[in-house]
Amino acid sequence: MNNYNNDKNSNSKNYYETLKVSIDAPYEEIKKSYRKLVLLYHPDKISNDHSSFNSDSGNVANKEFNEIQKSWETLKDDALRKQYDALLLEQQRQKYSVSDEVDLDDMEYLEEEGQYTYPCRCGDQYIITEDQLSEGNDVVCCSGCSLSIKIIYEVEN
Ligand SMILES: [Zn+2]
Repeated sequence: MNNYNNDKNSNSKNYYETLKVSIDAPYEEIKKSYRKLVLLYHPDKISNDHSSFNSDSGNVANKEFNEIQKSWETLKDDALRKQYDALLLEQQRQKYSVSDEVDLDDMEYLEEEGQYTYPCRCGDQYIITEDQLSEGNDVVCCSGCSLSIKIIYEVEN
């Protein structure tokens, strides 16, 4: 069986991309898209269409079909979907390149809001709350652009 860097591929394509829906698509829309894709990629259909066995297109279609199934199993379930969304968000956050490291002492502290802010070069600002910090978050995305900073601070226990 050929591998085709399958692990890499399945990692780079998220479940929403596999099902060709947007990340905030409602359940009904995902279901519709899933049904359409299943018809397209169903192994039975592929082997009927192509008379040659073990063809590469058959293997690829099979993998695609498995991905579609896996994606659907997760996204159709509200609780699983929420879990997956959180994971996805975390992955995306890590993908953002950290443009700078900022000492927490250099950030402006807004006592009323319980927030720390730092100006971004785009004119907008980075905002992190004390709660986020205490949960161990140290990377903040700018509210106005895709830049992010890493906050350096001492962990107090
Ligand atoms: Zn910015």
